[in-house]
Amino acid sequence: MNAASAADTHFGFRTVPLGEKQRMVDEVFHSVARRYDLMNDLMSMGLHRVWKDLLVSRIRPPRSARPFALLDVAGGTGDVSFRTVEAGGAGTRATVADINGGMLAVGRERAAGLGLADRVEFVEANAEELPFPDRSFDATSIAFGIRNVPRMDKALAEMRRVLKPGGRCFVLEFSRVDVPVLDAIYDTYSFKLIPGMGRMVTGDAESYQYLVESIRRFPPPEAFAEMMRAAGLKRVDYTPLTGGIVALHSGVRI
Ligand code: SAM
Repeated sequence: MNAASAADTHFGFRTVPLGEKQRMVDEVFHSVARRYDLMNDLMSMGLHRVWKDLLVSRIRPPRSARPFALLDVAGGTGDVSFRTVEAGGAGTRATVADINGGMLAVGRERAAGLGLADRVEFVEANAEELPFPDRSFDATSIAFGIRNVPRMDKALAEMRRVLKPGGRCFVLEFSRVDVPVLDAIYDTYSFKLIPGMGRMVTGDAESYQYLVESIRRFPPPEAFAEMMRAAGLKRVDYTPLTGGIVALHSGVRI
């Protein structure tokens, strides 16, 4: 049996070489891109919309015409960006950065359908090496994305680097359910129902098996807050949502 090495990471419950994880994650999102939004609604029973709206209320885009630029990392099909520009005034713009061309293609079509193509830009980019200058965004966000990134520390450092001083970095991610009974129900739902739902809707149960496993592998909220501090972010805090199913983390670039 091979012992795990420092160059290993996790792909769901499997230990894999660090250099392999991104390719495996990319396969997951290429496979589910076309049905990703529908599956999100079904899996979360619509709750992902509530969580994203809460994120947008914390991003607080100005209602005036004041310029405001959001970078939504691992932004996939554009949900957080669309909600942010819709909540903001005429000066609010968003950039979706995602490593997966399939997810971005769906996002571009959605932007055109919503009439938001001139306010939301889509850029193919790796969260670990963002192709943007230092201090160029008013806020950075990543929703349900960071656990898929092999080197989370690099992604957090990049999200801090591109922030203007005083700007806030937000991470919305699945967390730890800490409500008795709800935890057992959530476990059964995740492991027994979601992969089957994934098979029915996307024809791909394995991708959804990875997604539920990767949620369990993600560090508990205090440990993740420590990673944000290590990336140089200040005034780091987090709010558990829906009994801890999800947590909204944030930190400021001073
Ligand atoms: N943020 C969107 C949302 O909330 O609907 C999409 C979240 S989806 C669960 C995860 C996204 O992370 C996918 O679109 C995937 O392509 C992207 N991703 C994975 N690894 C990445 C990386 N290294 N850099 C940028 N995006 C990445």
